[in-house]
Amino acid sequence: MKKSKYYIIKLIIEKVKEQLNIDEDIILIVKEMKNKVASFSFRTKVLKLNKILIDNWNKKLITYIVTHELIHLKSKSLYHGMQFNENIMKDFTYEDMEKYHYKLLDLMKNQKHIN
Ligand SMILES: [Zn+2]
Repeated sequence: MKKSKYYIIKLIIEKVKEQLNIDEDIILIVKEMKNKVASFSFRTKVLKLNKILIDNWNKKLITYIVTHELIHLKSKSLYHGMQFNENIMKDFTYEDMEKYHYKLLDLMKNQKHIN
């Protein structure tokens, strides 16, 4: 992985943290993952991103995924309910989300793409 891409993702995380008013330090790990594009641990504050996102570089898509995961942190919930959608739709339109959804499905083929 190119160091500069890792650094860009760190910057994206800082920007999203600011937007969502999150103070916690987030640890970023980029690695090969079988079933998911991303995961976040409430306990360790580790955000894992699938290396596939580095190989198929799309800054907006990564911003979307980081926002998605950090909204879970902000809301302290893994639920994708109305509150979650209201939060993510402050930054992304429904059309954006649909586009990213299919992009992720395409990247991960038939596997679970985001949690
Ligand atoms: Zn989620």
